[in-house]
Amino acid sequence: MGNPKAFITISRKEAGYRPVLERVTDFEEVEQALSQEERKVQASRCMDCGIPFCHWACPLGNRMPEWQDMIYKGKWKEGVEILHETNNFPDFTGRVCPAPCEKSCVLALHEAPVKKVAVVGSGPAGLAIAQQLNRKGHAVTVFEKDKNPGGLLRYGIPNFKLDKKVIDRRLRQLEEEGIVFRTNTEIGKDISGEEVTKRFDAVCLAIGAGKPRDINPVGRELKGIYFAMDFLSQQNQLILGEPLTHTERISARDRHVLVIGGGDTGSDCVGTSIRQGAVKVTQIEILPKPPVGKNSSTPWPHSYPNILKTSSSHNEGCERRWLLNTIEFKGENGAVKEAVVEEINWQKAENGRLVMVGTGNTETIRADVVFLALGFVHPVHEGLLDELGVGYDVRGNVAVDRESRSSVANVFATGDAVMGASLVVKAIASGRKVAESIHQLLTREKD
Ligand SMILES: Cc1cc2nc3c(=O)[nH]c(=O)nc-3n(C[C@H](O)[C@H](O)[C@H](O)COP(=O)(O)OP(=O)(O)OC[C@H]3O[C@@H](n4cnc5c(N)ncnc54)[C@H](O)[C@@H]3O)c2cc1C
Repeated sequence: MGNPKAFITISRKEAGYRPVLERVTDFEEVEQALSQEERKVQASRCMDCGIPFCHWACPLGNRMPEWQDMIYKGKWKEGVEILHETNNFPDFTGRVCPAPCEKSCVLALHEAPVKKVAVVGSGPAGLAIAQQLNRKGHAVTVFEKDKNPGGLLRYGIPNFKLDKKVIDRRLRQLEEEGIVFRTNTEIGKDISGEEVTKRFDAVCLAIGAGKPRDINPVGRELKGIYFAMDFLSQQNQLILGEPLTHTERISARDRHVLVIGGGDTGSDCVGTSIRQGAVKVTQIEILPKPPVGKNSSTPWPHSYPNILKTSSSHNEGCERRWLLNTIEFKGENGAVKEAVVEEINWQKAENGRLVMVGTGNTETIRADVVFLALGFVHPVHEGLLDELGVGYDVRGNVAVDRESRSSVANVFATGDAVMGASLVVKAIASGRKVAESIHQLLTREKD
């Protein structure tokens, strides 16, 4: 017998397959081999349990414990002789046998064959699912299209609110716990969704709500008008020393900045612009200014209190305006210079819905650069979601049932991709919930 305690201390390790992009271009064998040293370590996991069901399960009666012991001891020649006693062609079966011996291994009674889960997206929702499932004994691989994991925690939220070292520290822990991260890998492009669903027992889409809301006033095509995320992610990439995704350098330095959108993302654009050296930052919002302190129309806990939020960024110096609709951008030499805004009111229509009514009062705001921080409409459909053919709800988010299952078998979804743009706490909560559903599914399948 190899090492009597190895089955406790050493985890199962597979050599895996060659990368998809490489192997689909040839007909060479896809499976890789462990190194001789790794193979010896794996052989030590056979505990010679005394009830070798593996002999019985193998149609050839291959003597597993004996030859694993030889491998563990580095006696390769003796090992192959034991194999040849029962099997004429171990070189064939080693490649194509579905290994009934492994399924019947006594270790499997405690260590049921590990079920593999792919998590697509490494924001807070994806990381929460990954940790929950990994701790329940499933083998979790997280695929992330960006250079580093973290989702909006890393590339959206500015460093001055969340230092990325905090994310790196947590990621080290997750990796040490056994979660595998495949970054720079966009599912639906670098690897197809179909391939992932084939290779994993369950797939969870935690891809966020990446499609930004846009507006279309006259002059929208002028240079210098950016989505907030292009600006914020670039600043985070600069701090991280990463190559820039948006190759054009977006800078607020010495500029009059107009942020359209009065929410948290807009506030992050304010703080980032100030740090970059903007001359003046104006933030405008189409909705009315919320009351300060308390709002009797949105009492907690019946609804989230709609009260005026003043962030640390606002306190750094920013003009804030409400009830303004942008009707035109004006420019010089193709670059934005001003925004024309109109004062508006919200009035109740006959059907009870609020409608926006222009007052006719307009003004011009200087804007050398404009950031559109208008929220997100839903996850990006093109690519992975459309390829998989998942169903959408009325808002364009991934539609899921009570167990967080999408319309595609064994494909789950969670986080902003399901809820629409939300909060980190909600993403984590949603990730934990879907992890439980996936665990239930995989344990049912094991039984
Ligand atoms: C600027 C900004 C500031 C915010 N500030 C706060 C805040 O202060 N507090 C708060 O609670 N919330 C805040 N939020 C909201 C919060 O960040 C999100 O609600 C949360 O991150 C959503 O988590 P998620 O895991 O669902 O998605 P995300 O964090 O969006 O992560 C999705 C991940 O999936 C990856 N991905 C997408 N498609 C693929 C694919 N096909 N293959 C591989 N990977 C893919 C993306 O690259 C991304 O890394 C902020 C949001 C923004 C935009």
